[in-house]
Formats: sequence, structure tokens, C-alpha cells
Amino acid sequence: MSRPDTQEAWQARAEALSLRGQAFVDGRFVDAASGKTFDNLSPIDGRRLCAVAECEAEDVERAVTAARRSFEAGRWSASAPRHRKKVLLKLASLVEQHAPELALLETLDMGKPVSDALNVDVAASVRCLSWTAEAIDKVYDEIAPTGQDELGLVTREPLGVVGAIVPWNFPLLMATWKLAPALAMGNSVVLKPSEKSPLSALRLAELAMEAGLPEGVLNVLPGFGRGAGEPLALHMDVDGLVFTGSTAVGKHLLQCAGRSNMKRAYMECGGKSPNLVFADAPDLRAAAKAAASGIFYNQGEVCTAASRLLVERSIKDEFVSLVAEYGARMQPRHPLDPGAPMGALVDEAQTQRVMDYIAKGEEGGARRVLGGSRIEPVAGGCYVEPTIFDDVPHTATIAREEIFGPVLAVTAFEDEAGALRIANDTPYGLAAGLWTRDLSRAHRVARALRAGSVWVNYWDGGDMTAPFGGYKQSGNGRDKSLHAFDKYTELKATWINLG
Ligand code: NAD
Repeated sequence: MSRPDTQEAWQARAEALSLRGQAFVDGRFVDAASGKTFDNLSPIDGRRLCAVAECEAEDVERAVTAARRSFEAGRWSASAPRHRKKVLLKLASLVEQHAPELALLETLDMGKPVSDALNVDVAASVRCLSWTAEAIDKVYDEIAPTGQDELGLVTREPLGVVGAIVPWNFPLLMATWKLAPALAMGNSVVLKPSEKSPLSALRLAELAMEAGLPEGVLNVLPGFGRGAGEPLALHMDVDGLVFTGSTAVGKHLLQCAGRSNMKRAYMECGGKSPNLVFADAPDLRAAAKAAASGIFYNQGEVCTAASRLLVERSIKDEFVSLVAEYGARMQPRHPLDPGAPMGALVDEAQTQRVMDYIAKGEEGGARRVLGGSRIEPVAGGCYVEPTIFDDVPHTATIAREEIFGPVLAVTAFEDEAGALRIANDTPYGLAAGLWTRDLSRAHRVARALRAGSVWVNYWDGGDMTAPFGGYKQSGNGRDKSLHAFDKYTELKATWINLG
């Protein structure tokens, strides 16, 4: 399938798309049991895209019943690993074939630049599906080291029915990080995408059927958190709950798991990641460019956004002007413009939230050195300029709370110990970065940073081979790599008496 390379070509492709907002249950598209729908608006220009099924408790009941039935039937759960591998590889290839369509769904739904949707979101989803599929028939179980008269088997078994609740910032990719290992291990899944970005997950479910996934193994329920997410989290027949989203909702879902059937519950939550630049950074321009894209990429709507820039005082002014120079080049444009460095924020509510934080930005003597305004590169859309505040006390609201928008808080530090104190003084622990030429310091600081991912002399490295997740209130459990399988399996010890 050809890939459009101009805004006009993307627009023509967008107009030809048929958008489907029904739920996907037991292998087919259906309306919500109540018949209710809600309007899906595009943040690009405020236009209504389509009606989306507003699923609630009754739909959750139907989807969980279908998932349980498919799990018990064993066509997927008891199938040979090489069969599951074949189907998931086929799904990876279908996602790749439909890359422009899926990228457009992401962009129309949540406003990110279509080039990023294509080259990052969809491309990484394909890699996640294929890497996970390839791993399925290479993971062995264990035989315990015992004496001659007994045999101890340690085997992995699928949990059963997994509920997955995901956010809107990387809709397809976050869904794939959950679905790929869950399905790989033989589970059946009920997925609830964000109400702000349901379209790509619905299309993915359809492609999964085409790839050969049996009916009922993957169900997708669009709807709101309280209406659809909560009944899923509280359901007594859901064995595992996996979530990506805000820390507040993650904490609430842990309570839901505890209040219901103690389902296994794994939360990937928010962040306020520190980026530490020491005066001996190998290349200040490269570090400044990475600092700018680390916060402004995806409009700052990234869990690992480099939202706190901590700079050694002796280079702070020079460094901040470099970051502002790169940031100024990242002005939002029409998301279907293939050269757009930033697109639209996800919706009006998020735009208002970001503007409210900007209004609080000058607290405690901080100074705005770039941006700060809402702009309209497309009439009716949700766009905010790349914004930088300098001299932000590390106790200020914009240095502590996750803004999830294009707003950078810069704080100076005096020495390594001071940098670490500020970096770790946060309830979050998702990611951190540091820039230095000193090898010993790189190891020392990386070890002392309380974060699930640490990057040295770059930002946001990583692929499917390493686990991803948070310390502290950034969550528990890990996505990606073989470690992800732990969330979707129970370990069974079987002892056989050979005496
Ligand atoms: P959110 O927590 O508002 O919503 C996430 C999902 O939870 C949505 O599907 C929503 O409908 C659902 N939900 C909301 N309230 C619920 C409830 N009471 N019961 C059940 N479900 C409910 O988050 P968001 O605004 O969609 O996404 C942004 C957040 O996601 C940020 O905090 C970001 O850091 C985080 N995030 C984390 C990671 C990670 O891997 N750690 C990755 C991406 C995003």
C-alpha cells in the first residue's frame, strides 16, 4: 500500500477512510447494549469524526463471558506455541500493511503528527508484535534441581481472562504492549481503549481476526473510565488487570482489584522525569536538541517526557538558550503535514489543563523564556506552543506535577549530590537521563537514580529487548521484553513422587 507524502495526499486518504466506532465482542462489531453512543471529536479542528459505542457494565459482562468461553474452549489458550506465533506474526504483517490507515486513525483521534504515528507508533507496534511472537516458542519451562526420587516441574500457565485499560497518548502502541504478551501466553483479553482514542484498537481487533485469532479471544470495548473501565476492574471473572494511564487512576484500580477477586493487577503510570546535564556533557548542542525533543515530542504527552531539566549552574544560561533555540523550531503545525514537528493536544480539556499549568508557571520566581500561548495553526484545533520556564524552584507545582503537555521546567544544580537530591525528590520514578563525559560519574549517577529507565548521553533509548516500567508511584510490573510474560502467567510447581 502506498504511503502518502504530502499533506494533501494524507487529507485525501483521511477523507476516504470509513470510521467504525462500534464495540468488538466475540468476533464481531456490535452496538453498546444500551444503544448509547458518544461523539468522537478530532482535536485537529474540532470536527466530529464518528459516533462511538458507549459501553457499560452490560457490555463488560458480554465481553468477559465471550473471553471466558474462548479461554475454556482452548482453541487459543491450549494451542501449540508455534501456532500462536504464526497468528501473531501474521497480525504484525497485517498491521504493517495497513500502516498508513492506522497512522491516520491515531492522528485524527488524538492529534499527533501523522509522520510520528506512522514511523513511531505503528512501526513500534509491528516490532512489538513480531518480537513477542518470535519469543513464544523459545521460552522453556523449568525442572527443579531435586533428588532422584522426585521430579519438580515449574510451568507457566496463562492467567485466563485479562482486562486491559489503556490511555490515549500512544493508543495503538500501548494496546499492543499489553495484547502481544497477553495473547502470546494464551490468555483471552477484554481491552478498553481511552474514550479519547478508540479507533485504532477497534481496527486492530478486526485485523487480529483476519490473522486467525479465534472469536472471543480479543474483545474491545470503547467507553468511559467509570462506565466501562470500572466494571472491568471490579469483575469477579477477570483474572488479571493491566493498565497504562495516570497514577491517580492506577491507584484506584489497585483498590478495585482488592475489593473484588484479588485479580493480578499491574499499573504503568505517570512520570516527571529528570534530565541531568553536567557541565562536562560531551556535546552541548546534541544534549540541548535531545532536551527539546524529549519534552516537545508528541506535544509533551509522553509518560517519559523529559519534563524536568536539571542543569549544572556554570552552563545553565548557555544551555537553556540552546534548548530554547531548538524548541522554537518545534512549533505545532497541521498534524497531516508530514513535516509537522508537533501537532494538536488530545482535546479541549487537556489543552485547558496545560494552559492552567502555564498560568501557574511563574510561581516562586520562575521566568518564561519560550512560548506560553495557545495558537491556531488550524482553526478550531487544540494547539499550544512549546513552552520553557527557567529558574523553577524544584518545589514549584510545574516542577512536581505531571503536566502532560509541551511545558519544560528548568532548575539549576550546584554539584552531583545536589542534582541527585532534586532528581529523586519526586513521587514518580519512570525514567531519567544524564549527560556527562565522566564514565565513573555516569555509572554512579545512573545507579543512584530511582527510575525504571535511565539514559546516558541520549534520551528515550530502548527497544523490545529491555523491560519498561516504573519505580515508586510510576507503577509496578514491566512491559516489553521476556519480563512482560510474568504479568500474564501463573507459575505452577508440580511435584511427582518417583519413589
Ligand atoms: P487516565 O488515567 O485518565 O486514563 C487511562 C485509561 O483509564 C483510559 O482508558 C480511561 O478511560 C481509564 N479510566 C479512567 N478512569 C477510570 C476508572 N475510574 N476506572 C477504570 N478506568 C478508568 O490517563 P490518560 O489521560 O488516558 O493518559 C495519560 C496518563 O498515562 C499519564 O499519566 C501518562 O504518564 C500515563 N502513561 C504511562 C505510560 C507508562 O508506560 N508508564 C505510558 C503512557 C502513558
